[in-house]
Amino acid sequence: MLTALFGGTFDPIHYGHLLPAVAIAHEVKRMQISLLPNHIPPHKPQPEATTSQRLAMLQLAVEEIPMLSIDAREISSVRLTHPSYTIDTLQAWRHENGNHVGLAFIMGQDSLLSLPTWHNWQSLLDYAHLLVCRRPGYAEKTDNPELQAWIANHQTLNSQDLHLAPHGYIYFAHTPLEDISATEIRQRIAQQTNCDDLLPPKVWQYIQAEKLYGVKD
Ligand code: ATP
Repeated sequence: MLTALFGGTFDPIHYGHLLPAVAIAHEVKRMQISLLPNHIPPHKPQPEATTSQRLAMLQLAVEEIPMLSIDAREISSVRLTHPSYTIDTLQAWRHENGNHVGLAFIMGQDSLLSLPTWHNWQSLLDYAHLLVCRRPGYAEKTDNPELQAWIANHQTLNSQDLHLAPHGYIYFAHTPLEDISATEIRQRIAQQTNCDDLLPPKVWQYIQAEKLYGVKD
């Protein structure tokens, strides 16, 4: 069984996260996905929802999707004093689980394009495979030569290769195109526009109950 971590701010979680996650689990098979909410360091723009509200929304979202769970390590109380880079999280996971079990890290195409700004990005494959979900509005190819070469060196077109090695492959999944972003959801809610088709009903109800993102009575 391959474990996949899907990192994000999830402010809030929406169908642009959930539908590709479910699709990629079906595509790769024998894969359990954990949503990995990020801790945002104090010097970065903060999420509008609190950490516990983001976590509560994730819990409501995964309740009815058995192939999804939550890995809260980056927002656990110990971690809050030491914001972690993805590479640190993958290293910690390997430390706990050893070097022989399969691990993948899932990201959208927008995150792939910004990967060269991530700390120690080229070492990610020393710990995990990289699974990339399609995302409308973002270039399908990078114009960064270093990223291009790295992808070319590690890409596989066969999802089943991901089960043959514990880490090291890049795979572009054939996930559905969902033109949804948390930024757009927050903006629409602030303008009192309905978003109930963009996220699970229980998450939408929670946003209403907690009056998140500018919900008014
Ligand atoms: P924001 O609009 O606040 O930046 P977001 O909607 O992009 O948020 P994040 O929580 O930042 O969501 O994203 C977490 C991960 O999910 C990232 O790897 C991102 O690329 C991916 N992702 C987010 N939305 C989509 C989408 N609609 N399709 C595919 N991948 C997505």
